[in-house]
Amino acid sequence: MKEAGVIAKGDHPGRSRDIRVSFGSDHMKVWTVLTILTAGLAAGLAAGPPAGAAELQGRPEQGGLVLGLTHPGGEVSLDGRPVPVGADGHFLLGFSRDAADTATLVADGERRVLTVARRDWPVQRIDGLPPAKVTPDPAELARIRAENQLIADRRAAVGPRPLYLSGVDNPADGVISGVFGSQRVLNGEPRAPHSGTDIAAPAGAPVRAIADGTVSLVRADLFFTGRTVMIDHGLGLQSVYAHLSRHDVAEGQAVRRGQVIGAVGASGRATGPHLHWGASWLDVRLDPESVRAALAAAPRHQ
Ligand SMILES: [Zn+2]
Repeated sequence: MKEAGVIAKGDHPGRSRDIRVSFGSDHMKVWTVLTILTAGLAAGLAAGPPAGAAELQGRPEQGGLVLGLTHPGGEVSLDGRPVPVGADGHFLLGFSRDAADTATLVADGERRVLTVARRDWPVQRIDGLPPAKVTPDPAELARIRAENQLIADRRAAVGPRPLYLSGVDNPADGVISGVFGSQRVLNGEPRAPHSGTDIAAPAGAPVRAIADGTVSLVRADLFFTGRTVMIDHGLGLQSVYAHLSRHDVAEGQAVRRGQVIGAVGASGRATGPHLHWGASWLDVRLDPESVRAALAAAPRHQ
């Protein structure tokens, strides 16, 4: 299990805030306090010298997601990269599988160095394979590149509202059969690490949206992921559901947490029926299990 409900403590030059709160029972109360704090700081900003206003919820870790709140209209960057901020001050930070040990957050002029927890990723080495099984077919490469570009374009379109504050649901009932970040090394050549969580379930079992969002992509036959649905949960967070046998939603459609969006299948490159469930923040692939823990610990918006 992930450590939930801990306000991440950055390296605060000149300030020492160490806020630990329990999100066990008082989600709304805590978030209200944070909102009031933020409003107060925003008022301070208007009145005089700038003060850092961003609050973080969750622990930065490789593959993980951290929720943030600053004042409306605040400016945030992570390692120099602009971070989308909602009109009400909500934002997200995502950390890649191979993120460095520290990341620099600048929120409204205040610089913090975040410590990013390392994780051990399983590596499976297989040697002595026939080269044809290791090197992709060049004829398929153009198609794969075009599909990757399509997905990248859809991930780059950032929804403006924190729909992810709806709470979180399991995307399918079943046993986890593959984890995020695991990597195969074939004949000494590293393949792309596994980018999601695999859930083994019978073909036809319902697949649900993990949180509120807007359907950002529906394709019936992508090379790797087969019938695929992507959902934009706002501020850079998207989820993907792959190898489906059926889809029940269309691009642009609003969906609610827990809504059935399709059914488990084995389309695309799949050896049997399962749901491949992925998550991303902008172009950063995230561990869906970390995302689920982060969203489960978040206070809910209605
Ligand atoms: Zn998978």
